[in-house]
Amino acid sequence: MLAAVLTLLLLPVQPADLVIENARIWTDGRVGFAPFAAVRDGRFVYVGDYEPSLVGPNTEHLDAEGRVVLPGFIDSHIHMLNGGNNLSQLQLRDARDKEDFIRRVREWAGNLPEGRWILGGRWSTESWQHVEQPTRQWVDEASQGRPLFLSRMDGHSALVNSVALRMAGITKNTPDPPGGVVDRDPVTGEPTGILRETAMGLVSRLIPPPTLQDKVEALNRAMRAANAMGITTVCDIPGIADLPAYEALAERDDLTVRFLLYPTGGDWRRDAERLRAFRGKPGWIEPRGFKAYFDGSLGSRTAWMSAPFANNPPDNKDWSGLPMPIVTDGTFDRNARAAAEANLQVIVHAIGDEANRVLADKLLAAYGGIERLRAARARSEHAQHLAPDVIRAFAERGIIASLQPFHKADDGRYAEQYLGKERCAWSYAYRSLVNAGAVIAFGSDWPVVTQNVMLGLEAAVEGRILNGAIWFPEQSVTIAEALRAYTSYAAYAAFMEKEIGRIEVGYRADFVVLNASPFDLSPRWPDIQPDLVFVEGRKVFGRATR
Ligand SMILES: [Zn+2]
Repeated sequence: MLAAVLTLLLLPVQPADLVIENARIWTDGRVGFAPFAAVRDGRFVYVGDYEPSLVGPNTEHLDAEGRVVLPGFIDSHIHMLNGGNNLSQLQLRDARDKEDFIRRVREWAGNLPEGRWILGGRWSTESWQHVEQPTRQWVDEASQGRPLFLSRMDGHSALVNSVALRMAGITKNTPDPPGGVVDRDPVTGEPTGILRETAMGLVSRLIPPPTLQDKVEALNRAMRAANAMGITTVCDIPGIADLPAYEALAERDDLTVRFLLYPTGGDWRRDAERLRAFRGKPGWIEPRGFKAYFDGSLGSRTAWMSAPFANNPPDNKDWSGLPMPIVTDGTFDRNARAAAEANLQVIVHAIGDEANRVLADKLLAAYGGIERLRAARARSEHAQHLAPDVIRAFAERGIIASLQPFHKADDGRYAEQYLGKERCAWSYAYRSLVNAGAVIAFGSDWPVVTQNVMLGLEAAVEGRILNGAIWFPEQSVTIAEALRAYTSYAAYAAFMEKEIGRIEVGYRADFVVLNASPFDLSPRWPDIQPDLVFVEGRKVFGRATR
């Protein structure tokens, strides 16, 4: 009561640092769309109708020109270091032909310091008019004396140049390593530059590991890329050995993304010590817990299912995937108890229904009861192929489903082949989870797939998949539910719901101004983009075209 009175008394006399005017501010139904909001000291101090007393001589004005304003997006599952690393590497995935391939290598090499490796690639020549296997001769001159290692798209082979072969001591006389092949010219017997499987290791082991500075730069690039998508907070999954890079980042005062860290560790009792010693930045870079893996993926048929895949080969009819060793050898149970004792959140990669079922049971056992488990907000990451009993267990036990809608768009093209139609009704089961009362949080899994939030929304709200079809639309959620999964629900999933994820008085002023409205009847999702992105009332992204 006293606080409310004070607020009323203070409001008119203290102008805001920033006001947002002429806006359509999404308040998640609290006051409809608000036209006006005010920010002071990095937090919203007012949301509602125009309030002239908040505008002083030094107040900054943001005229939204009628555009939609949303809370900054929270990406609940992302790999910022990997993604940032990829951004610093040569991309050849969409190279059109041999000339284009070579031209890009030459351009890239020209901008690299002497002696630096030319890395990246992810090339594929299968869609070219003239399908050709690249050779070292393609790139030797273009790489201008620098060593080169460019992976094929699937990562099972790589192109290297003559400099790299020389550094590795690979000649026509080098035998193929076990499990690998050094491709050779049929006439001369000389290596062609293509190394397959384990043979890639002959060269890749020479590539210097990223330094602390490399990692910090990768994180800077990843922050810029995230901001351009309207993302202002991430649940990031580094390795435990990457933590010093985040500590270095935490020394900066101009961060543009908040990081909640869930490193993949080994022995969580030991790793908990490391997290306790972590020098972060409250509200900006904080360790939250640990990530574990329960199974593999649908595409590689390594998801752990309760019944066999529909497209098993005849000699392996009963195959239903398998759990990771930590599930069966006691490691996870031990780790989960250690995390529970240390008050650290547990998030677990679980794709198949059996992986998710066993996860729900193991969590209950580790926390010793539903109330403690609910309070811990444990999460299933991906939670892709569920079943009614698993969904019920998630709802009852407060296990959060951390979902990546773009995976539905991607996998939806082939999931029925792998699972049959019946089981697909419980896959990417957003609607069923919400209806059951489970919390869902959305993310991207970048750089595995795009971090574009609008494409995620399209898949979640419309059920549209990458071949253009609408797939299991009965599992779609409403635009409001989908937005919450990227904002307030995602904040809850990271213990940040009192700080971020809403445009509401007291919340940190992280927000996005969009160029077009996602609330329109049939929005052109791929065309919707952030025009402006703010973090604590500070502009961190502005689209150049406006
Ligand atoms: Zn991931």
